[in-house]
Amino acid sequence: SAPNSAAIRRAFLRYFQEKHGHRHVPSSSVRPRGDPSLLFVNAGMNQFKPMFLGTVDPRSDMAQYRRVANSQKCVRAGGKHNDLEDVGRDVYHHTFFEMLGNWSFGDYFKEEACSMAWELLTRGYGIPAHRLYVTYFGGDPALGLSPDRETQEIWLSLGVPPARILPFGLRENFWEMGETGPCGPCTEIHYDHLGGRDAASLVNRDCPDVVEIWNLVFMQYNRETDGSLRLLPQRHVDTGMGLERLVSVLQGKRSNYDTDLFSPILEAIMKGSGAPRYRGLLGKEDAGHTDMAYRVVADHIRTLCVCIADGVYPGMSGTELVLRRILRRAVRFSSEILRAPPHFLSSLVPSVVDVLGEAFPELEREKSQIMNILNENEEAFLASLQRGRRIIERTLQQEEEPQTFPVGVAWSLHRNLGFPLDLIGLMLEERGISLDKAALDHLAAEEAERKMKNQQADEAQTGLELDVHSLAELQRRGVPCTNDSPKYDYT
Ligand code: ATP
Ligand code: MG
Ligand code: MG
Ligand code: MG
Repeated sequence: SAPNSAAIRRAFLRYFQEKHGHRHVPSSSVRPRGDPSLLFVNAGMNQFKPMFLGTVDPRSDMAQYRRVANSQKCVRAGGKHNDLEDVGRDVYHHTFFEMLGNWSFGDYFKEEACSMAWELLTRGYGIPAHRLYVTYFGGDPALGLSPDRETQEIWLSLGVPPARILPFGLRENFWEMGETGPCGPCTEIHYDHLGGRDAASLVNRDCPDVVEIWNLVFMQYNRETDGSLRLLPQRHVDTGMGLERLVSVLQGKRSNYDTDLFSPILEAIMKGSGAPRYRGLLGKEDAGHTDMAYRVVADHIRTLCVCIADGVYPGMSGTELVLRRILRRAVRFSSEILRAPPHFLSSLVPSVVDVLGEAFPELEREKSQIMNILNENEEAFLASLQRGRRIIERTLQQEEEPQTFPVGVAWSLHRNLGFPLDLIGLMLEERGISLDKAALDHLAAEEAERKMKNQQADEAQTGLELDVHSLAELQRRGVPCTNDSPKYDYT
């Protein structure tokens, strides 16, 4: 029978600890510490950034690290690595996921890194080698970066046939943490879920059946603020493998949502909402959008639990604002598509704790706090959501050309009812109605500029967004403020 996700995670850590002398370093919080270039921790390497840059305090514990392995909580919902738009539409991008990783700080380099990864996948986990494809950096003449022949040779020497060793450019095979920070050429391992055919042409093509599972980065540079590449003092290895994707491979599932990391949560969603059972349908077949809603809610509830347990609460700016957006999307998909009753989100928390509590005990510890925060926030948005829905209906009835939605109304839903902009787009898209995203972005940019000016003028209002709740809150606190009266007043 297939191994469960806990055993798969343990086997990874044991392999690097026991067989190759790595030290297990626990996952850091998802909130980046002292790194303003990041909204969330987006990769296992984040906490080791000072090691790459050579800026680590020589008296610290970290300065002693040579070989390290871990399973890091990652969130990709903002900044350079932002997968929010893909979540629910595909079956292998999540906003929260676990990244299994091993590192060499100035110790082993390409050859050992590749052979350890290959040995673990093919012998340790028993994945058939003919299902695996590897990629390497094909170079970039404009930047004066040559192809990574060394890595190509290493894969050949490990017995990978030439037809399954593929070169790619900067976008796929030169990994960067953010706009600035450590970076370098990488080599990646992809898995063909179907087999029995030549899948080389499907690698890196967003094909759900040929999925990237492991990235091995050879950290050699730092991307400076002026965009140039500076050579690092030493060469390091930084790898990352998505646990959810690995588990789907080892449990013989084509979708991450069909693994034991998600199925208990999907079950709880069905019980709590009374929605028809999750069928695992994708795209066009999913006419009622029920399956997509299941995936979005299952994804978002994991992210919400992990973030809140780490002290990131839904709020009004930066990381907190991103979390609020995720929460509101979850509320909307739950109540409108799955027809879930109030307090539904908090009812899913026990299933998340069941799945992830062993690996991340803070979830169990913070369980009741998580449930309270979810309930409060769900309540706050449900009323706005109902009003917003009525506004959308009425607008569509009144429009002569209902194929495109008036930008002004969309903006007012955002500005006055706290609808995340991407959510409005999604709600309309489901009905085949388009929205001028560029015009909306323009309004958002104007608003941001206005906000910045206000902020400079009046510290008292810092970070408070004028939606219906905060406006009432401001008035209650006696803060002088005006309601930039919405052009469309439907109340
Ligand atoms: P993709 O091309 O599929 O978006 P990526 O190249 O952006 O992945 P990396 O930055 O190389 O991903 O991260 C290392 C590994 O982490 C990936 O090989 C994948 O297994 C996993 N991973 C990355 N993003 C996600 C995500 N949003 N959800 C789940 N796993 C992910
Ligand atoms: Mg990606
Ligand atoms: Mg990729
Ligand atoms: Mg990658």
